[in-house]
Amino acid sequence: MDSDVAVIGVGAMGSMALWQLAKRGVSVLGFEQFGVGNDRSAVGGESRLFRTAYMEGKEYVPLLQEARQLWRQLEEETHNSLLTLNGGLMIGDPNTEVIKNVLKSIEDFRLEHEVIQGNEAKNRYPQHRLFPEDIMILDKNAGFLRPELATISAANQAEAHGAKIHRYSKVEEILPDNNGVTILADGKKYRVGKVLITTGAWTGKLIPKLKNKIKARRLVLTWFAAKNIDDFKPDNFPIFARMRKEFRLTGAPTLDGTMVKASNTKNPGIVPEPDSLDRDVSLEEMIEVSDAVKELIPDLIPDPVRASVYMDGYTQDDHSIVGAAPGMENTLLISGFSGHGFKMAPIIGSIAADLIIDGETFHEIEHLNPKRFTNH
Ligand SMILES: Cc1cc2nc3c(=O)[nH]c(=O)nc-3n(C[C@H](O)[C@H](O)[C@H](O)COP(=O)(O)OP(=O)(O)OC[C@H]3O[C@@H](n4cnc5c(N)ncnc54)[C@H](O)[C@@H]3O)c2cc1C
Repeated sequence: MDSDVAVIGVGAMGSMALWQLAKRGVSVLGFEQFGVGNDRSAVGGESRLFRTAYMEGKEYVPLLQEARQLWRQLEEETHNSLLTLNGGLMIGDPNTEVIKNVLKSIEDFRLEHEVIQGNEAKNRYPQHRLFPEDIMILDKNAGFLRPELATISAANQAEAHGAKIHRYSKVEEILPDNNGVTILADGKKYRVGKVLITTGAWTGKLIPKLKNKIKARRLVLTWFAAKNIDDFKPDNFPIFARMRKEFRLTGAPTLDGTMVKASNTKNPGIVPEPDSLDRDVSLEEMIEVSDAVKELIPDLIPDPVRASVYMDGYTQDDHSIVGAAPGMENTLLISGFSGHGFKMAPIIGSIAADLIIDGETFHEIEHLNPKRFTNH
């Protein structure tokens, strides 16, 4: 055996799983086709939003509360600042599903929050232009993460605990059997006890039978200059998500003191072949986000000054898959985070370690069970 466990893909989930496994004394090998912290997949673009009052469903709230503790633990262990909780504004019509989900999370878990509307909303956060039906929900336990540094921090910490990471090493095939798993990478064979697949948007490429279950989708991030950048510094400008029929504008305060991130993440495009992701941003995409910014955040100058393209693995129901890989012995699948997984990466890494070591976890993850796609 080359190791007890191999983790394929050292992105958001793989790096955190490596950290958790190595910390618990498991001998573990990581394989990453690019460098750790690369910008070719779903890690990249300076920031990721952290929210606790969750529009994607209240079943995530306990996981997110635990994720927050683990983010702090990783910060303590590495002396890196990874998570800034400067608050988060969810803005939209209270009759929509997403705002109802946010309010339901708050109610069920008594989350620290404020509902702000009308003139008060305009006075406190004049950066946002509101529609008459809009309310603002301020999630006090929201903010932004530093995705590249977070991934590197977890991988480095894993190595400090004895993990070995093969960088620029692409896994070509995984061959599971009763007694373990053989991995083919870089013309070599590796033999391990168990495998954890955390290949994000590439999952369907590595395991073709999962191609229809986890699809690669393309997301464009954009940044804008401001009329007065001080209005968009973290103390004045919480992270935000604004839901409209035509677009979903999400963003973060300025982190470099010159640009503000505001991106349209509605309808991420299909990526037919993840190895040749189209990283060019079209004129139509630029104009669409520019129109959204013009309408919703008038104090930004509405011409994008920076744009970049990433991708993530999406499932049919936009909830990820965490569990035994269907029909593959000794193989765990952690993928399909559908554009909202980064914030929960450390708790997912910890759950992966539970499942690998004990075969079970006490965390409630039934909504992520892969059987929901294979049982019917
Ligand atoms: C533009 C964008 C914005 C987002 N915004 C947010 C946000 O604000 N908040 C939030 O919580 N989430 C957000 N997400 C989602 C979040 O970033 C992803 O859900 C999360 O990073 C997925 O983690 P992952 O480990 O599954 O995939 P990734 O982080 O993409 O990691 C997969 C890794 O596997 C490697 N790999 C693939 N195939 C192989 C192979 N055969 N051999 C070796 N290595 C391989 C890849 O190179 C990659 O490094 C966003 C995603 C995108 C794309």
